[in-house]
Amino acid sequence: MKRGGFLKRGGPLRRRRLVAAGTITNKMLDDACRAVVFARDGYRCVMCGKTTRLQWSHVYNRSYRSLVWVPLACKTLCAGCHKFKWHEPPPGFDPKAWFRSRFPGRMEEIDAFYFANKGKKIDRRLTLLWLQQELKRYQTNDRLLTEVFQEAGPNVVQAAFKKVFPR
Ligand SMILES: [Zn+2]
Repeated sequence: MKRGGFLKRGGPLRRRRLVAAGTITNKMLDDACRAVVFARDGYRCVMCGKTTRLQWSHVYNRSYRSLVWVPLACKTLCAGCHKFKWHEPPPGFDPKAWFRSRFPGRMEEIDAFYFANKGKKIDRRLTLLWLQQELKRYQTNDRLLTEVFQEAGPNVVQAAFKKVFPR
């Protein structure tokens, strides 16, 4: 295909129109999932605790399609841990073994989710809506807990529990 011809037929324009009409793009899902993972992990690297240069990291790589937008299968890492601990670990350091001990049982949950959903069509709209709802849930809990911790005294845990889970 001639590049000029493609551009003349308005490839990029046409794509923009589709998005406006309601297509859920990979980027929209990426942004939503990253936001949920960061909020869930408290905006900290789960390896070293750093709060800057945070990145969205998958436990299995993105070729595992049914896990790409599943927060369970994702974690927050700083740029340093992501590159030098997760992808290019130093000799003697096994990142997956670290993950298993840091989050007991979670790898098994991820594997179970993967095998239960492998090859299934991803409902992009529903996935996006669910991620947006998850983000709201984490943000609401964060806000409530912040308020509670500011105002509560010695019974802080009890007070927080009552406020976040009324009754
Ligand atoms: Zn880190």
